[in-house]
Amino acid sequence: MFYLPVRIIFGANAVRKSFVFINRLGKRALLVTSKHAAKASGALDDVQNLFADLNIDYYIYDQVEENPVLETITTGAAVFGEQNCDFVIGIGGGSPLDAAKAISLAAANHLDQSTLYDLAKIKKSFPVVAIPTTAGTGSEVTQYSVLTNAETKVKAGFGHECAFPVLALDDAKYTFSLSPKTTLYTAVDALSHLLEGLYSKQRLPMIYPLIFQGVKLILDNLKPVLENPNDLQKRENLLLASLYGGMAIAHTSTTFQHSIGYPLTAEFGLPHGLTNGLVLKPIMNLYYPSVKNELDALFAYLKTDKASFFNWLDSLELSAGIKITPEFVAAKTPEILSSRNMANNPVSVTAEDIAAVLQNIN
Ligand code: NAP
Ligand code: FE
Repeated sequence: MFYLPVRIIFGANAVRKSFVFINRLGKRALLVTSKHAAKASGALDDVQNLFADLNIDYYIYDQVEENPVLETITTGAAVFGEQNCDFVIGIGGGSPLDAAKAISLAAANHLDQSTLYDLAKIKKSFPVVAIPTTAGTGSEVTQYSVLTNAETKVKAGFGHECAFPVLALDDAKYTFSLSPKTTLYTAVDALSHLLEGLYSKQRLPMIYPLIFQGVKLILDNLKPVLENPNDLQKRENLLLASLYGGMAIAHTSTTFQHSIGYPLTAEFGLPHGLTNGLVLKPIMNLYYPSVKNELDALFAYLKTDKASFFNWLDSLELSAGIKITPEFVAAKTPEILSSRNMANNPVSVTAEDIAAVLQNIN
């Protein structure tokens, strides 16, 4: 089943082009963002100018940190109510976009930190507009929000139909201000979503064309963008790949590849996309026998093979600079095994598999 209830405006001046749709959402917005991304990208200026023309008031909640914590969501939901807002507009990378969705759900359903993951309590949401400033998560078109419990240091996602943004405004010019490292890591996150769209037990052949093209866009454009960060067409190609990755996981969910990355971020502060890249090869090897047809079709489309694809990945020189101890493996294995994404693995993944992948990281 294909279901994606998001109006997507992709391309130059997407924010300006959205005025008819934004105008319907209400008269006061909560603008959810992080400290720098909205300003540095130019997206905040565009939104403020549009709001001025449409007479929409807004309050800026710019407290979203990387890998948002539960308290950031409940505080944001309280601000939404105090400020009498009608809708939420998230600007930034996956962190502010996920926060914007969770704030909308928390405000609409009166959720607190203990009930944020309680899907049965979610009945409705306030409209969310999502403006990505990274080309990686595809969060602007997914029903997921990934949050971290600051006390337990557990990072985990949830998904609910009510969390889909109503509008996704994708303009690649907002990604010019990304650092080379964030450009790289976020593209690897998008690559990971695309591959997981093929790996997942919920894989949907209807969207393989998007997945195949998305992977090709990353192979063709990532290194050129790292060499020439101001190439708009190539930046747009990476943003399109990220969008396709989001469309894929909105249907298939992610797998072990994401579950294993969450504790690496929560414990070592590793960027999300990097964690995916660090485990991509061993997990592709683990899955390969069970998704051989899908991966062989992908490699045929790309006119490559697994070994050459791995060489390309190696050339990205992804490295964590951390030491994984046996204690870390023992402590985190139960959390990884119980993560909701594990239900989608094409093979059953054991504690030994987890240890082997973690010990491989350097
Ligand atoms: P992010 O955590 O949103 O941002 C990473 C860094 O990039 C921050 O330092 C941010 O700066 C900076 N940044 C973002 N856009 C910028 C721009 N245009 N110019 C300059 N700096 C910019 O990174 P992300 O990789 O996009 O998102 C990762 C989060 O999304 C993780 O929590 C991950 O679990 C989640 N995720 C969600 C989904 C989903 O479907 N919902 C899918 C995959 C991942 P400031 O913070 O200083 O502003
Ligand atoms: Fe991801």
